[in-house]
Amino acid sequence: MDIHEYQAKELFTEAGIPVPPGEVATTADEAEDIARRLGGRVVVKAQVHAGGRGKAGGVKLADSPEAAREYASAILGMEIKELIVKKVLVTPVEDIVSEAYVGVLIDRANQAPLFMVSPEGGVDIEQVAETNPDAIRKQSVDPRYGLLPHQAYALADFLYDDPKLVRQATKIVGQLYDAFTKNSCSLAEINPLIVTPQGEVKAIDAKVSIDENAFYRLPRVEAYRDLDAEPESESRAREAELSYVKLDGNVGCCVNGAGLAMATMDLVKYYGGEPANFLDIGGSSNPDKVVAALQIITADPSVKAILFNIFGGITRCDDVANGIVEATRRIDIKTPIVIRLTGTNEAEALEILGEAGFSAHTSMDEVVQKAVQIAAQA
Ligand code: GDP
Ligand code: MN
Repeated sequence: MDIHEYQAKELFTEAGIPVPPGEVATTADEAEDIARRLGGRVVVKAQVHAGGRGKAGGVKLADSPEAAREYASAILGMEIKELIVKKVLVTPVEDIVSEAYVGVLIDRANQAPLFMVSPEGGVDIEQVAETNPDAIRKQSVDPRYGLLPHQAYALADFLYDDPKLVRQATKIVGQLYDAFTKNSCSLAEINPLIVTPQGEVKAIDAKVSIDENAFYRLPRVEAYRDLDAEPESESRAREAELSYVKLDGNVGCCVNGAGLAMATMDLVKYYGGEPANFLDIGGSSNPDKVVAALQIITADPSVKAILFNIFGGITRCDDVANGIVEATRRIDIKTPIVIRLTGTNEAEALEILGEAGFSAHTSMDEVVQKAVQIAAQA
């Protein structure tokens, strides 16, 4: 789960990382008051779960409380990467000598945390990785020992020449690792880590994702969840207990089982299409779940074909078929649907679907090609 910058900064502050003060506003009036309290010169920052807010116009430097008010009223309600801004963080302007990048994430291939740092911070780190990979230093961490002092030092030393800065950054890198492990993060990022004209190293941006599997032992962090801040499709999916991830393509996928869902997405790509989502409806043939799944898929305007791929084991195909028929009775769907079912009671299922006017198949290749073709022609 992604959390907001102001929440991530709370976690960083607890770990001892130097972070400028700040307060959250939901109205322009509040932003003006906060700006006055903080001395007038402030940065007004959109709080949405998206990077690149600066480029999108969601980070503005204000010279006065009145200007802060203006910027807040422009930023609140703004749309950044399909998310509406409902809150802004108001924080004092820092003068910046240099911007660096410091991040740690779970490296799945290596089953260990991986640090990445770069003196070329502020900008998109993926871009630096592409255009100037030598400007990034990586350090894998053995979780049994944690980040060792010499590793923290080497990372900091890659960022700065001045020992005073290296000393501060060494400490910050260690504190970031503590915050990362203590809060079961999958990602913790400072971009930029700045140097001020006074020679202080500070984090002025914070990006953190938490591993939701750890929520049982992190009730306070779980409470950071902001239902207002996530795409509606994701809240709906969670309510209906569906695993759903939106993607950029146009073939809407509705599959039972995560493995089959992955294989289905692979096959869509293999036949030249692009999946619009990952969606696992689980082992259930409950029409309510199928309705929820279809509602989520059809709410995405880029979906041009809906592809069901069901493998009946314990799940009976005829139950699922009834679920699909029932679901499409309850909601009006204009997008073409193609269905593949195989396994337990497939013959009955094909009959039920055929009678209801659906295109139903047993071959996965055939149905995926068909869905890709329909989507391409739409
Ligand atoms: P992001 O675009 O979502 O990553 O938001 P950031 O918080 O990283 O802000 C983007 C950029 O705005 C930073 O890289 C800085 O260059 C600039 N910026 C943000 N806060 C300040 C500040 O207090 N002072 C100055 N001078 N620039 C800032
Ligand atoms: Mn940033």
